[in-house]
Amino acid sequence: MKRRSFLKKAGLGLAAGTAAVAPGIVNAQGAALPTVSWRMAASWPKSLDTIYGGAELISKRVAAATGGKFTIKVFAAGEIVGALQVLDAVQSGSVECGHTAPYYYFGKDPTFAFATSIPFGLNARQQFAWMHHGGGIELMRDFYKDFGIHNLPAGNTGAQMGGWFRKEIKSVADLKGLKMRIGGTAGLVLTKLGVVPQQIGAPDIYPALEKGTIDAAEWVGPYDDEKLGFFKVAKNYYYPGWWEGGPQLDMMIGQKHWDALPAEYKAILESACAEAYGWMVAKYDAVNPAALKRLISQGVRVRPFTNDVMAACYKASEEVFTEIAGKNAKFAKVYEPWKKFRDEQAQWLSIAENRFDNFMIAAQRTAQAGPAKGAPAKK
Ligand code: CA
Repeated sequence: MKRRSFLKKAGLGLAAGTAAVAPGIVNAQGAALPTVSWRMAASWPKSLDTIYGGAELISKRVAAATGGKFTIKVFAAGEIVGALQVLDAVQSGSVECGHTAPYYYFGKDPTFAFATSIPFGLNARQQFAWMHHGGGIELMRDFYKDFGIHNLPAGNTGAQMGGWFRKEIKSVADLKGLKMRIGGTAGLVLTKLGVVPQQIGAPDIYPALEKGTIDAAEWVGPYDDEKLGFFKVAKNYYYPGWWEGGPQLDMMIGQKHWDALPAEYKAILESACAEAYGWMVAKYDAVNPAALKRLISQGVRVRPFTNDVMAACYKASEEVFTEIAGKNAKFAKVYEPWKKFRDEQAQWLSIAENRFDNFMIAAQRTAQAGPAKGAPAKK
């Protein structure tokens, strides 16, 4: 009876025995929901089924959950706008939404970087915690308002690698004069240490590295980096990407388009973006181990940044952010509570999580190494 009265309300009463026709999607009051067609500009090439795959997942979920009434067509980097022009395309209204890394736009305001990652910031879990339970989403929405954009966290790559270097980086002095493709505010930090940073979208990085326009480049991690081919022209693969402990990607939506969506479509889009966030972290974690093995088998040399290099970069980062906070009130408004959250997270994760992870890593290494030399043979 309940179903019948629902269908009646929806104006779709069915005669008994007739074949059911798929009902149009209706809201709680029984009104038909509108057909909405959006375009999404992504900052990624189609070849990256991790990061572009996340944007596609959002599109597919929204279409499936609305019976095809709300569609979002995804365009790869370069199809409508270049990888680094997604914010502009959303602001100008040439697309309704975009899937991108907010820190690409730090030149407009470095505060954007908190929606992705700033050097020595949060890992993927901490970023998720800050956004949803640490006041992050409220702070960032307040910031985005001035750009006429509504943001939804919609992806994360997990901790990244430090990138591909033609020459070894043995000391801080080796950074001097290095031309490097690097994302976000890390470029401001590395400038202090003599690096010449360049922001380049994914499709254009390999040609720049191959031609020697740049000496080093970072993108994400083994699986994506292997596809982009950097190992063919630079063999030293450094870690960690200390500027991207857990970089988030955002769905940027033109505020007026968001406001015009029915509540049901807003909820569906929010759910799809939240799913893409977790899906992407999981995908990277699942595919990176095998990709790293393949890279090593191609002669790639995996190297940690030295403690001296890391410490110098950490010091420079703190200086850069204190300087920016001193002259940019929007940045300072986010930075102060963000820093408190980061420091508390480090204290908490150092207890159970860190001890567990370190023990497990050591245990797996021991197991893989086999019985110690001289150990009595088991009978
Ligand atoms: Ca990166």
